[in-house]
Amino acid sequence: MKPLGPIPAGFRAIDGELAIGGRKASDLVAEAGGTPLFVYDGALMAARVASLRSALPARLGLHYAMKANPFAPVLRHMARLVDGFDIASGGELLLAEAAGVEPARISFAGPGKRDADLAAAIGRGVTLNLESAREAERALAIGERLGQAPRLAIRVNPDFDLKGSGMKMGGGAKPFGVDAASVPALAKRIIAAGAEWRGFHIYAGSQTLDAAAIAAMQAATIALAARLAEESGAVLPACNLGGGFGIPYFPGDLPLDLDIVGAALGEQLAALPGVLENTAFCIELGRYLVGEAGVYLTRIIDRKESHGEVFLVTDGGLHHQLAASGNFGTVVRRNYPSAIATKFGAEPEEVVSVVGCLCTPLDRLADKGGFPRAEEGDLVAVFCAGAYGASASPVNFLGHGPAAEWMVNASA
Ligand SMILES: *Cc1c(COP(=O)(O)O)cnc(C)c1O
Repeated sequence: MKPLGPIPAGFRAIDGELAIGGRKASDLVAEAGGTPLFVYDGALMAARVASLRSALPARLGLHYAMKANPFAPVLRHMARLVDGFDIASGGELLLAEAAGVEPARISFAGPGKRDADLAAAIGRGVTLNLESAREAERALAIGERLGQAPRLAIRVNPDFDLKGSGMKMGGGAKPFGVDAASVPALAKRIIAAGAEWRGFHIYAGSQTLDAAAIAAMQAATIALAARLAEESGAVLPACNLGGGFGIPYFPGDLPLDLDIVGAALGEQLAALPGVLENTAFCIELGRYLVGEAGVYLTRIIDRKESHGEVFLVTDGGLHHQLAASGNFGTVVRRNYPSAIATKFGAEPEEVVSVVGCLCTPLDRLADKGGFPRAEEGDLVAVFCAGAYGASASPVNFLGHGPAAEWMVNASA
């Protein structure tokens, strides 16, 4: 038997069935029109934001990195909860706008911004986090053509990365950001060209559960921002300190200790050098805000045995929830948290593998896990499905089509 990841807090059983946001899984499936189905609980997202607000310094702005989950009702909900949105494409700009996020609250990072993307962002007053010197020149030229000073920040490729990070995005040669050594000259250039100077964006990595590593990264980020601001000869209006807050996906993972992060950052912000005294600081989080608030529900279509092993074959799979199959940024396959939703809380009775309906051995949602006995028609829940699920899986692979998405407890 292989262990399953830890089921996030906030889920309980009603009549022996998993409840999401106080509603039974089978009722949600009936209401949404069937399986496979993602359900997102807005109350869990609001609680998560509240816990961040209480643990982190009041001065710190909280941004949502919307690539984690761009479902429109989630965006509308998050727009009410957080201070800003971080987008990474022209398409995300349209989605954020449609969700009612004011352009002044949006910043746009990401390599390979096309001229049309830059023009759309500049025309609306969105802050661009510049990824290169060439992108800066294109943004300045487009601003000139539009008769509008672009709002420009520089994304810095720091000389360090986030220890224990699942996905390293800073340190060494990277397609992201401008190498720290080249930043002061570029800052001087864009300020002299008449852009509205918006400061730095420094993102060193993602998915860390180690509070001390995040505190160390934030301290290094603030020190780097101070040094680069001095060398640029300009005060910093704003500084995005990145994110990296992880969630427990796998057996043995423990939640991030927010109090440690908050206390350390409080000390940092209380002792800022002069160039950063009036800087507006923010962090940008994706999965930490929405990941644990989502559940992926599939129905068992077939129960079969092969060479003594039991397989529960579902109507879902990696085309909706690639990460749970272990094929999205993980080296060793480990089990996500999962359960038989229609027997939630029942004791494990057998060792089975839960697989999807795709014709590939990669399509395994749970490998040799301990579950209560389940039959055709029972529902399987895969947790931690609120981020990088529907939008980060190869939905066209094998032609089964998309999963439905459903939101409960939305404020909007
Ligand atoms: C993807 C991304 C995020 C969000 O990452 P999470 O691990 O989901 O918090 C934040 N900032 C940038 C620049 C990103 O590319």
